[in-house]
Amino acid sequence: MSTAAELDSNIRDVPDFPKPGILFKDITPILGDPKLFKTSIQLLAETAGDTQIDKVVGIDARGFIFAAGVAHLIGAGFVPVRKKGKLPWTTHQMAYSLEYGEDIVEIHSDAVKPGEKILLVDDLLATGGTAAAATKLLKALDADIVGISFLIELEALNGRKNLEHPHVHSILKY
Ligand code: AMP
Repeated sequence: MSTAAELDSNIRDVPDFPKPGILFKDITPILGDPKLFKTSIQLLAETAGDTQIDKVVGIDARGFIFAAGVAHLIGAGFVPVRKKGKLPWTTHQMAYSLEYGEDIVEIHSDAVKPGEKILLVDDLLATGGTAAAATKLLKALDADIVGISFLIELEALNGRKNLEHPHVHSILKY
């Protein structure tokens, strides 16, 4: 298994993407390397601790990559939280603002049963707006959110505070 330090040295900083002033954390070098990709999934899966997770919820779109891998590894189901207009069935919706713009996320109304144990996963925690919206959707479905886990956390943006959850984990902090 690779180390978190090796993951760190393979994240590519792209200045001014997708807008001037944003330092974009590009995770594609990790995805393209079999060992690093596996390590990123393993480290995220470990954040669930000993709790048997029913479903791993991933946030559109990079969150899907990690959440699906974690779900497979820990033997849980996978549920997508998607940008507005992508899910075909009845949905719950939540508006949110992010580091560069505004959007709406949705979840299928029947995707999670009341009381199911959920691990919420995304690639990166910036302001926390996206994950907070996903958290609200899950609470509306009476889910039991066991933890909220990110590969990357941009600590200066204080997104953790927005999530108001005791178990927020990140593998790499900047
Ligand atoms: P936020 O809602 O502000 O926490 O933004 C988190 C979402 O936006 C995540 O799904 C990320 O994929 C994306 N994101 C925000 N800022 C960055 C960044 N600097 N680099 C890469 N992705 C980012």
